[in-house]
Amino acid sequence: MAQRYVRVKTPQGQIYYGLLQLNRTVAVLDAPPWLGGQPIDLTLAAETYRLLAPCAPSKIVGVGRNYAAHAAEMGTDIPKEPLIFLKPPTTITADRQAIFYPKQCRRLDYEGELAVVIGDRIRHCTAEQALGKIWGYTIANDVTARDLQRKDGQWTRAKGFDSFCPLGPWIVRELSAGAKIQTFLNDDPQPKQSAAIDTAIFSPAAIVAFISEIMSLSPGDVILTGTPEGIGPMQDGDRVRVEIEGIGSLENHVVTEN
Ligand code: MG
Repeated sequence: MAQRYVRVKTPQGQIYYGLLQLNRTVAVLDAPPWLGGQPIDLTLAAETYRLLAPCAPSKIVGVGRNYAAHAAEMGTDIPKEPLIFLKPPTTITADRQAIFYPKQCRRLDYEGELAVVIGDRIRHCTAEQALGKIWGYTIANDVTARDLQRKDGQWTRAKGFDSFCPLGPWIVRELSAGAKIQTFLNDDPQPKQSAAIDTAIFSPAAIVAFISEIMSLSPGDVILTGTPEGIGPMQDGDRVRVEIEGIGSLENHVVTEN
């Protein structure tokens, strides 16, 4: 099994990066692993921490319409270059935490996505250089208020509510090229979304290189690489689970905002 890099919080409020062991204990690191964090003499027992999202990025850059079949289901053309947008870091929530259904939204969609975690400062790099600066991979749900996305024309509101970026539960360093991503709703055994990661139009390295021509990327920043075909709505009380082969699964539930 690949090493699982986590970020956890203790009941005393201390936040640590660490390595999740098979027995659910966490070997604590002295810094984020992409900044060279090394194990210290501290292991957290399974019942003494809760999982946070595995990183705390300065920004989250999303990519729209990066799978041809998804562009088609949205009634849009395939983009000739990556179509990017930002989600604020306040959208991040952890595995098993709630997605809050905003009062002003009438249609709330899941978008299962592969997320890339940046390991170094990046500016003006090629795709080949970018590959060396991708530190690892995790799972995301690019939750979207679809009605507001259509209404606004630009996406800041539709993509930007608190809790609209479930992320985790951990980061792995490697991912096989043909890994499958699938999204499940409630107890339905049939996935709503199912695609191989390598059927995306732009590869993670190509996306990172493209973004680096526009803005500096910092260690721990997150890139959402786009959702495959099969997006759909969630209702209050629904459970949504995104799985990626070689990483694991990210599950969240929907709660109406009060
Ligand atoms: Mg998306």
